[in-house]
Amino acid sequence: MSQELHPITKAIRIQTAKTGQNEHSTPLYLTSSFTFDEAETMRAAFADENDKNIYSRFSNPNVDEFVAKMCALEEAEDGFATSTGMSAVFSSFMALMKNGDHLLCCSSVFGSTYTIVNKYLPRYGITCTLIPAGDKAAWEAAVQPNTKMLYLETPTNPQLEVIDLEYAGLFCKKHNLIFNVDNCFATPLLQQPVKYGADIIIHSATKWIDGQGRVLGGVIVGRKDLIHEIYLFCRNTGPAMSPFNAWVLSKSLETLDVRLERHCANALKIAEDLQSNKSVTWVKYPFLKTHPQYEIAVKQMKRGGGVLCFEIKGGVEAGRKFLDSLELLSVTANLGDSRSIASHPASTTHSKLTDAERAAVGITPGLIRISAGLEYADDVLNDIHQALEKSQA
Ligand SMILES: *Cc1c(COP(=O)(O)O)cnc(C)c1O
Repeated sequence: MSQELHPITKAIRIQTAKTGQNEHSTPLYLTSSFTFDEAETMRAAFADENDKNIYSRFSNPNVDEFVAKMCALEEAEDGFATSTGMSAVFSSFMALMKNGDHLLCCSSVFGSTYTIVNKYLPRYGITCTLIPAGDKAAWEAAVQPNTKMLYLETPTNPQLEVIDLEYAGLFCKKHNLIFNVDNCFATPLLQQPVKYGADIIIHSATKWIDGQGRVLGGVIVGRKDLIHEIYLFCRNTGPAMSPFNAWVLSKSLETLDVRLERHCANALKIAEDLQSNKSVTWVKYPFLKTHPQYEIAVKQMKRGGGVLCFEIKGGVEAGRKFLDSLELLSVTANLGDSRSIASHPASTTHSKLTDAERAAVGITPGLIRISAGLEYADDVLNDIHQALEKSQA
């Protein structure tokens, strides 16, 4: 076609070359390795002189199809898919930094990322300074001569802080830093970090990309030279995505845009409704005018995303009662599912922290996180209403 296709069309139409069966949907390539008819072709494959598949730890047709779609959506040059979101995060650190390097990381990040940067990286001589999302003076003061990378997540999990990507991009350019963004919560359809100069973009494909709570997956896309370094690291250390998971995730990308429309509409409807609920102290959602970074959110995001959080009156006890009273919503640790999910960080994911540590990362006692599903919104709201009422009894 003469016209460049829109990324949404590419996410539906990019497809591995058809086999002789002329199948419409891509078949599953469950094979650990690939054969060669001639020794010379195999030699050339190992010498990177052709792009033949060698071994599924390096590449596989299903995985390549998924990566090509993600590159189209993020408008990124190249990518590599991993077994989980965390292996994507970890590989991006290990491949691009070395002993003696310094990392800047926003203070509110996903729990396992927090553990990697504070517990494991220092063991290998990579130090980290946590910087508060909106404190520009603190960002400037934290830069050292050996600072190599800025890592951030926006919106953050679970506090939904929004970080200014335009400012972060200029900051990285000024200090010559690799700009690495976890874009899991927004997805490329709501926010494209490349537009603000991001060099590396990471996703947990487990969340909105799968969208149905079935498989784990991760993906790293970005600048070709940096992705090549990450590819070499992953090819040798082995966090590859399985062909089956890639097949599931590639098909999921075909419906991501329509799913997100409903997720975001439901999340906004629930957030707006809860603002006037007497059992709720406050509600946080990027596209509510009361969100502290509302202006930044509407500047860099198309919609507010599928997650909202609120503070229930009555603290930890009321939070637990709320979960116990839900009849429709699922109580589970995942998010980004077709089924709406409620969780209570203070008594679960963040229960091992002290009160002071929880306060430092913004986890208040009655914080409830809702991942809005695809159900009829009023059914979800009615369940939340009745559980809120019971939580106060
Ligand atoms: C879930 C999540 C991850 C980790 O992804 P897994 O697929 O569970 O390994 C990383 N970042 C964010 C923001 C997440 O929500």
